[in-house]
Amino acid sequence: MTDMPRIRRVRHDTLRRNLTIARTERVTPQMLRLTLEGPELEGFVSASPDDHIKIIVPDASGETAMRDYTPRRHLPEARQLEVDFALHDAGPATKWALAAQVGDTATIAGPRGSQIIEGNIERWVLVGDETALPSIARRIEELPAAMPVTSLVAVADAGEEQEIETNADHVALWTHRSDPADPAPLRRLLDRIALPPRTFVWIAAEASVARALRDDLTGRGHPKEWLKAAGYWIAGQADGSAKDL
Ligand SMILES: Cc1cc2nc3c(=O)[nH]c(=O)nc-3n(C[C@H](O)[C@H](O)[C@H](O)COP(=O)(O)OP(=O)(O)OC[C@H]3O[C@@H](n4cnc5c(N)ncnc54)[C@H](O)[C@@H]3O)c2cc1C
Repeated sequence: MTDMPRIRRVRHDTLRRNLTIARTERVTPQMLRLTLEGPELEGFVSASPDDHIKIIVPDASGETAMRDYTPRRHLPEARQLEVDFALHDAGPATKWALAAQVGDTATIAGPRGSQIIEGNIERWVLVGDETALPSIARRIEELPAAMPVTSLVAVADAGEEQEIETNADHVALWTHRSDPADPAPLRRLLDRIALPPRTFVWIAAEASVARALRDDLTGRGHPKEWLKAAGYWIAGQADGSAKDL
């Protein structure tokens, strides 16, 4: 096996699916989980924890808006899909999720594709903010037993920290911050982490934060093949993302 990890890209049929909201719950005060279900989930595939679907919602003027969300957990037998919404002040997807009631219709599309990270990875470091937490938690849950993984997550306060159940060898480091576009708290955590060879680092956060962390890592000599960084949102920009930094 080559020593380099690789990202295997898989395409899926992009279907639009009309589902029903089966459950709404607060995972934490600022993280709202919607469970979507219905026969149209038949054939739904999410092959990687950093997949995204489009949530299709009306915006303030009644036009259609689409926003990216992580398939947090797919339960094919029950034909259910959980999606976690990090609540913030503005935006049609957040407003829609807050207003959602059991029995309402939820329209999704995708995932259009998956990027499966594979290879001779001996340790994972997963870094991000609350928008990345659904993907980070899902990956930690899906890792093989005893795989070393450290998560570095910035959230508003201790009440936003989540318990993640896994058989992997997981160390959770949390930091609290008021400005989600400030890279400093995650930078401080990342500085403390050793990065031995064959450590894969995955980063997703506000785009300027993700870029700053990626630059710190490459500055430390971490090979770019052992790193994947994405901006999951852009401060001050609606529907902003930078998926491949
Ligand atoms: C691949 C991928 C997967 C994602 N998965 C998830 C997920 O599972 N859960 C999740 O909650 N988000 C996730 N996101 C982020 C989500 O798509 C954005 O936060 C999105 O902008 C929210 O849409 P909105 O309609 O609420 O706000 P928008 O209309 O897009 O934005 C309105 C304003 O709010 C700001 N804003 C957007 N997001 C935030 C935020 N989190 N905090 C503070 N201000 C913000 C924008 O800069 C803008 O000024 C993901 C993004 C990507 C690219």
